[in-house]
This record gives sequence, structure tokens and C-alpha cells, in this order.
Amino acid sequence: MRRWYFNKRPTREIEADTLQLREESRPPLRDNEFLLRSVYLSMDATNRLWIGDWDLYMEPVALGAPMVGFTVGEVVESRHPDFAVGSLAAGILPWADYNICNGEGVQALPMIPGLKLADAFGILAVAGPTALVGLMEIGRPKPGDTVVVTAAAGAVGMLVGQIARIHGCRTIGIAGGAAKCRSLTEQFGYDAAIDYKSEDVIARLRELAPDGVDVHFENVGGEMLDAGLTVMKNFGSVVICGLISTYNSSGPVPGPYMFRNLIMRRLRVEGFVILDYAQRYPEFQAKLAQWMLEGRLHYRLHIERGLENAVDTLKLLYSGGNQGKVMLQIGAE
Ligand code: NDP
Repeated sequence: MRRWYFNKRPTREIEADTLQLREESRPPLRDNEFLLRSVYLSMDATNRLWIGDWDLYMEPVALGAPMVGFTVGEVVESRHPDFAVGSLAAGILPWADYNICNGEGVQALPMIPGLKLADAFGILAVAGPTALVGLMEIGRPKPGDTVVVTAAAGAVGMLVGQIARIHGCRTIGIAGGAAKCRSLTEQFGYDAAIDYKSEDVIARLRELAPDGVDVHFENVGGEMLDAGLTVMKNFGSVVICGLISTYNSSGPVPGPYMFRNLIMRRLRVEGFVILDYAQRYPEFQAKLAQWMLEGRLHYRLHIERGLENAVDTLKLLYSGGNQGKVMLQIGAE
């Protein structure tokens, strides 16, 4: 079987020798173990943080250990009473074509009638619950509110705008490039789009939301967060979901410079980690799956193939080369 290992800590972007793919022999199964054949690996911006040098919300990947990520696979051999051959299971597992599991940190994944595995895993494993919790429980918009979302054409962002719209909000998405901005209004239901690569973001936000913004949903950080803080309404909420523009840095990162607006505009700023909501996943997934089946939640999956392409696939999130939720298909569905 093949498995990626964390070989050398990167100082900035992931480099050619940061992770290493190795071929190794597979030991026989012991009692209470099962063999999971990987089907999809979810590529998440936070994977870069797990091999960085920041204090994190969880144990990072140790140097020399297998690289891990959210994976779904099929049980192909089993000596475990709870994981039957042919069933699906998901969890944070080594980037590998096969994993031997003992059930710890892995959940059986029921198929949702009407949804393909790629759609169910791509949207319901990380991005969907993150969008739902971040917007509704942290941002807490009211109908009629103006909601701004950064990295709005990405996995989380494309869903946040639509959930906000379902709740009667007006939505402004910020993304890089004309094509992504078109997808915001044409595919993902945003009322307006701002191209941060060619437009003055603060000027456009002032134009589109002359009375200010009620909820700002941050996925990027840096200049985007500053722009958001600049145009907030009094008593608005700022959701810190992600700061991807800073993840390739080691050591301190600058800003935000408009931190003073937390006082001037009496803002509530709150971060969250979706892993803390694991107990409530069935509730979130049922709601999201219903919207997906009703055609109320549109999404785009960006699926690359081949375990050997894992690093290049992860890097798409950092170059903006992705179109929607990035996944790597490792084996057949
Ligand atoms: P996306 O699918 O949104 O991909 C990342 C996007 O970020 C890129 O497409 C690019 O969009 C944008 N981006 C990357 N680098 C920069 C930069 N330097 N400046 C501006 N934009 C940049 O990824 P996800 O939806 O998976 O994740 C989005 C955010 O949500 C991340 O910050 C992630 O860490 C966070 N997250 C947080 C979770 C939590 O529990 N708090 C859980 C899951 C995700 P463009 O082409 O438009 O520039």
C-alpha cells in the first residue's frame, strides 16, 4: 500500500520534499481491525496548518508520521464487529490508498438516498457543516441583513451565501477573478460579487452596502478582513472561519489594522472550529442533505485523481486554482 509521510517542515508554501509518498507492505489484520480502501480524500486548507509551527486547535502531525486528512473509504476486509465488508466509513486518516483501522476516530457513514458518495462526502463532511454553523450559530444573521463572504466561490463560501439567502439575507461575495465572480451570482445565488483582484474592495463594499454590513464571514484574512472590518455596521458580527492568506506564514502575521472598529462599531468577533460540533453532525447533515435534494443548495466539486497527486491537489486551495470543493479520488466509488 502507498502512504504519504510528513518529511520536512515547510517555512512557507508546501515544497517538493515536505511530504513523501512511500510504498510499504500491508500487515495482516488483527482482531477488531478492518481494512479501509480509500475512495475520496477531502482537501482542506487546514491540512497545511497541521504540518506548520503554530499552536493549533488539535495535535499537529508529527514530523516523520503519516500525513492525515478527512477520508471516506469502503471496508474491504474486516475482523471488527461494527464495520462490515462493503460498508462505508469516514474519519481523519492517513493519506493512503488503504488504511488499517480499529474503529477509533472513524465513523460508519450511512448512504443518503438520492445523493452520490462524492456529493455527500464533499459537502456534508466538512464544508457544509462549517458553513451552517459559522453563519447560523456564530454570525446569527436576521432576515434582511447584509452578509459578506470572502473566498465566496470556494467550498465553504459557495454554501454560506446560499444558506444566508435561504434565511432571507442579502449577500455579497468576494472572490478572485471574473469567472469566479460570475459563478457567485449565476450559480451560487449571491446578490452581488466583488473581484478582489481587479476592484477596490472597500469602495465596492461601500457602494453595495451603503448602510454597512451586518455579518462578515471571513475565510481569507489579511486585507480582506480589514476591508470587512472597515464597512461593518454598529453591533455587527464578524465570523472568523478561516484565514487562509496567512497559513503559509511561519511566525507572526500582520493585522488586522482595523481592529479599532471592534470598539468604534461595537462588533462581536468570534472564531470557531467545526470539529467541536461533531456531536451535532447528524442534525446539520440532515438539514443540508434536505436542501441538496430539494435543489436549494447548489455546489461544485473539484475532483482530482490519484494518490500521487495529493500535494498538487492541496496546493490548488492556496493558488485559487480550485473551482469549488477540492477532493482527491483515490479509488473507485
Ligand atoms: P476554498 O474552497 O474556499 O479554497 C480556498 C480559497 O481561498 C481559494 O480558492 C482562493 O479563492 C482563496 N485564497 C487562497 N489564498 C488566498 C489569498 N492569499 N488571498 C485571497 N484569497 C485566497 O477552501 P475551503 O472552503 O475548504 O476553506 C475556506 C476557509 O474556511 C479556509 O480559510 C479554511 O481554513 C476555513 N475552514 C474553517 C473551518 C473551521 O472549522 N473553522 C472548517 C473548514 C474550513 P480565490 O480564487 O477567490 O482567491
